[in-house]
Amino acid sequence: MQTMHTILVVEDEPELNQMVRDFLTHRGYETIEARDGASALRTVFERAPDLVILDLNLPTLDGIDVARTIRAQTTTPVIMVTARGEEEDRLRGFEVGADDYVVKPFSLPELAMRVAAVLRRGTGNGRSAGTPARIVVGDLVIDPDRRTVHVGDRPVHMTAAQFAILSRLAAHPGRVYTRLQLLESFQEDAFEGYERSIDVHIKNIRKLIEENPREPRRVVTVWGVGYRMEASP
Ligand code: CA
Repeated sequence: MQTMHTILVVEDEPELNQMVRDFLTHRGYETIEARDGASALRTVFERAPDLVILDLNLPTLDGIDVARTIRAQTTTPVIMVTARGEEEDRLRGFEVGADDYVVKPFSLPELAMRVAAVLRRGTGNGRSAGTPARIVVGDLVIDPDRRTVHVGDRPVHMTAAQFAILSRLAAHPGRVYTRLQLLESFQEDAFEGYERSIDVHIKNIRKLIEENPREPRRVVTVWGVGYRMEASP
């Protein structure tokens, strides 16, 4: 028996907020709403939703700041909503740790699909059978069941997307993965237009696990192809 997931919908436009919540409720989720950035943060801390759908264009507190604060203090996944043409916002959103995004105007079934995918990743149910209990590469230790990452004794907190990418790379040290392959590790409908977002995720992963992110020794770039985890950094 699956427990019901609670989703916080942050959108200042009342009709759109209601429409999104109605659709998700119909799909079996519990939904709560916030209409500005400050109340969004309050609700995240008070109600601890399983996922946040976050419009970036909000009154009182910018969506990017909301996302940054959520990421700094919780592991709650965030799906950003950006307006068409706001490529910059999307990249900034990934930089502060959003897990996925949709562009307005979006279709409700598409949004629901992304919600389901992010929740699956978040709970680890999407992991295929036969995944090892722990992935160890040098002093990097990944525990897929507990969704934890350690470098030596130091715990490292990652977004769901960062965790999926790192896990895929670390499962086969030495093997080169293309951006599209890495994208597919956390986004089911991956296509080439989104590939560059991987670079942002990799940059953030390096900040978390590399001694010197400018000269990475764990996750290295394979020019013209993609990325590889070094077997013995
Ligand atoms: Ca808005």
